[in-house]
Amino acid sequence: MRVALAEAARARAEGNIGVGSLVVRDGVVIGRGRNTVNSSRDITAHAETVTLRDLSLAMGAPIPPYLSGPGLLTGHVLYTTVEPCPMCAFACCIAGVSTIVIGARFARMGVRTHGDYTIEKLLELTGHRVEIVSGILHDECAALRSPGTRWAATCSPFRADGPGRW
Ligand SMILES: [Zn+2]
Repeated sequence: MRVALAEAARARAEGNIGVGSLVVRDGVVIGRGRNTVNSSRDITAHAETVTLRDLSLAMGAPIPPYLSGPGLLTGHVLYTTVEPCPMCAFACCIAGVSTIVIGARFARMGVRTHGDYTIEKLLELTGHRVEIVSGILHDECAALRSPGTRWAATCSPFRADGPGRW
């Protein structure tokens, strides 16, 4: 988790929300990423999706058709400093990640932007089986995420004082 925290610190230093992620296989870090939503101007560039995207490209293996068998990352562990949002959590499911290790939880941080969402509710809804481990270095992970730079507060083109471009 400390490696993921270093990615989160990089994300924050680059003007993004401070979230970091990595993928581990057999105890070895084989992929890492961080939130780059602001710096890449890609609303989907959350730490987990960046990690999965980069790792999939690096592996160079064809991605198995969805639900046709074991996913590309079966047996892999994804670490993330903050509970994955629904988009990222489902991407992990499709990729076949076996275990997700979470630092900070939305509910414990008081983040209400996702309503009553928890990753367990998504797994129950979709029927995917992923082992969840959480609370690892919670306070450090939460501190890096907030009060970080917020897209809506700093860069939104929809704000009168925003950059006016997308
Ligand atoms: Zn996400």
